[in-house]
Amino acid sequence: MKLVFLGAPGAGKGTQAAEMAKRFDLEHASTGDIFRRAVAGGAELGATVKSYLDGGRLVPDELTARVVDRMVLEKEPDFILDGFPRTLPQARLLEEMLNGRGEELDGVIYFELGRDDALERLTGRVVCRGCGRNYHVTFMPPAEEGVCDRCGDELLVRSDSSREVVERRLREYEQKTEPLVGYYERAGLLKTVDAARSPSEVSRATEEVIKSLINDE
Ligand code: AMP
Repeated sequence: MKLVFLGAPGAGKGTQAAEMAKRFDLEHASTGDIFRRAVAGGAELGATVKSYLDGGRLVPDELTARVVDRMVLEKEPDFILDGFPRTLPQARLLEEMLNGRGEELDGVIYFELGRDDALERLTGRVVCRGCGRNYHVTFMPPAEEGVCDRCGDELLVRSDSSREVVERRLREYEQKTEPLVGYYERAGLLKTVDAARSPSEVSRATEEVIKSLINDE
């Protein structure tokens, strides 16, 4: 099963991707996590992408697609792509990379959320220094403040969660990523989930969509 999770920053697609990956035994491939890990680990890739991440700007398409090809498509038969593609050129590159292997996407799940809700959710994000898990101080707090539920490491404010950077990320999303909704709708791949509901309700709806895609296979 090859899936793409699409949605505004803050729509909760990363949380859903992690949960659904576990539930359906799929690889959770988040380009944001891959890039953040590269920055934290001091790899060459990290040095190249750091300024983009800190400024809330998109990493160039070709570089991002190469990273996805090498770290996901080459290795994993079943995956959820979380945060890729984010532009029309990336969507076309993904199609080419998959078609080149005689493969195709099974579905694109779109987590729909209004701008005001996205803005509210995006300020207040923290991330685990160790395992990269994301939390929100109000909407999805850890059991103990500042400590990761999963690995016990320290939670840090995300470098891209200031108001200014958040506004820029939302603008970038609206200009560059939102057109993918129509693109995948026309391709007959789009399934929409209302992301304004609680995480457990969104999980239930997402699970139903994935089950229906499995039945269609
Ligand atoms: P995320 O955790 O998905 O919000 O991603 C964090 C940051 O990583 C983004 O603000 C971008 O700088 C970079 N990034 C993640 N995915 C992509 C992508 N598909 N294309 C370009 N940049 C990306």
